[in-house]
Amino acid sequence: MALPEDDAVRPPRRPRAAAPAPPSAAPIDAQVLERRLVGIPVSPGIAIGPVFGASEPRAEVVRQKIAAADIGSQTARLEAAVLQSRKQLQKLRARLGVLPEASQAEIAPLIDAYLQMVGPSRLVRGARRRIGELLVSAETAVMDASEEITTAILATPPADEDPAGRERRAEEVREIARRLVRNLTQTPFRSFAGVPDGAVLVCESLRPADAALLDPARLAGVATDEGGADGHAAIMLRALGMPAVLGVAGLSQNARPGDTVVVDGAAGVVTVNPTPLTLAAARRSVTAFARERQKLARLRRLPAVTEDGEAIELQANMEIPAELPLIAQAGAAGIGLLRSEFLFMNRETLPDEQAQLETYRTVIEAMGGDPVTIRVLDWGGEKDIEALQSEGVVPEVADQNPALGMRGIRLLLRRTDLFEVQLAAILRAAASGPTRVLLPMVTNVGEVRAAREVYDRVVRRLRRRGDRLPDPIPPLGIMIETPGAALSADALALEADFFAIGTNDLAMYTLAVDRGDSEVSALYDPLHPAVLRLVQFATEAALRMRMPVSVCGEMASNPRLTPLLIGLGLRSFSMNASAVPRVKQAVRAANIDDCVRFARRVMEQSDPERIKEMVLGVPVAERPKAGAE
Ligand code: PEP
Ligand code: MG
Repeated sequence: MALPEDDAVRPPRRPRAAAPAPPSAAPIDAQVLERRLVGIPVSPGIAIGPVFGASEPRAEVVRQKIAAADIGSQTARLEAAVLQSRKQLQKLRARLGVLPEASQAEIAPLIDAYLQMVGPSRLVRGARRRIGELLVSAETAVMDASEEITTAILATPPADEDPAGRERRAEEVREIARRLVRNLTQTPFRSFAGVPDGAVLVCESLRPADAALLDPARLAGVATDEGGADGHAAIMLRALGMPAVLGVAGLSQNARPGDTVVVDGAAGVVTVNPTPLTLAAARRSVTAFARERQKLARLRRLPAVTEDGEAIELQANMEIPAELPLIAQAGAAGIGLLRSEFLFMNRETLPDEQAQLETYRTVIEAMGGDPVTIRVLDWGGEKDIEALQSEGVVPEVADQNPALGMRGIRLLLRRTDLFEVQLAAILRAAASGPTRVLLPMVTNVGEVRAAREVYDRVVRRLRRRGDRLPDPIPPLGIMIETPGAALSADALALEADFFAIGTNDLAMYTLAVDRGDSEVSALYDPLHPAVLRLVQFATEAALRMRMPVSVCGEMASNPRLTPLLIGLGLRSFSMNASAVPRVKQAVRAANIDDCVRFARRVMEQSDPERIKEMVLGVPVAERPKAGAE
């Protein structure tokens, strides 16, 4: 992601959109000719409207030394700026109440993180220390402290964080430093008060805090010179459902206030001064997009049944609790895979039984009677968890071959103390609603038997302790995500209460392709006949035993794969919440007999290319990756 300029430190690279040249100064072609600028598609939808450029005066700062006698007054200035920043952020937090619930869920955690940073944070402490020890002005102290912290964040990444996550954390620190400097120098913030209805906001960059102030009912869309798809501003624009394209180089030089622009948030294109032809096409796209959205929203209340009346269960996967409102909005019938790893991440110590209980209970209660499948800790592979290392559960140095090492159920059976705490928390939370327990990375029946012994032992202990447990106790199921498990599915079906087929790892282990390695990503193919045969074998083993079986890997979220999976006998799918409406649409268009015939034809094929052509229905060269839509 291109980082927004720290305007407190460096001059801006280009003139600002809001400082327009007089019309006569613009080149002739800039006044009349259509210009098509390409950026990063960030939030889908089409916006057509006049450009609104929200101007923001630059905070001018010179780095300054101070006399020892001024330490007190500079510290007092810093404290006043901290207080003012906190009040501004609290006001912003209170304003979130007017946004749709899903947007609030996305934006509130960021504003809370900002609020923490204007508390007793490293940034504020560092700035205070610099004033006293290095004798610099409050502005200089804030800028230098911010630089030191962001350099440290970017230089020593924790093993479990991707580069985009590090950039985001660094940007949060820069953002608060900029706010403090703005307040110290009393430079006004950008104002959105005068945005005309239906305008398109065009500016060099957008702060996440700015995005939180945008009113989706008034503003048609957003386009900026800087920014990328992974930043907080992008996440917020998506949460607000506002068409947006970021990172459009040269945009603010080309689009002047008052110009008409078309923002295509799906294609990542901004057209300035569109011709009548372009405008007409854009208007048609607006109508088509609105119709599609309405259709998908209407689906929320419609049942997931095939054209010939067979019910299909569509559930959501959940990685963090902030997804709960989205899951409810998507019309998912419960949670088919709660990846409990989030409880163990970004912390030094392991969560105890009470902390886990509260989280599970919140999720189960939020589902209001729809079932929740909680997968016990699946550590390993690419999922590094600091707390496990600092508490000595796993070695600080990773296995040579982590995907094949001590991961998933193997670790839990080695460290039954950890396993028992988690099972106890789940069992107690299960008194609040229908719950299932899911074991990750199973490869043989011995593991299921051993896990059930631990499970039964925890049940007995809790009953002795007088805890309220559901009767019967939650079913204990297993992930089918290794070829070993898939090929022993008939034996495993005698031990487990249900199967959840994890096609992500199943494809990885079957094809010997690391799912996170871009070098071999072209070989990662969930539609490879070997993977499909394993899915079929495991599904049929479960169906013979009349045992529940679902797919919870990414394959479940691609509506083009829905007919094939239904044809293989599957009736339950769990996917990211946003995929539920489209998959429901595919379910409602499907006919069981047709699906069965189609699956039979697909399973006769041994050529992966032919299978992809049949299932995805597009020429090989234009094909999207299976599992992603
Ligand atoms: C899978 O492997 O398909 C799965 C659902 O588990 P995860 O993606 O969490 O490894
Ligand atoms: Mg997995």
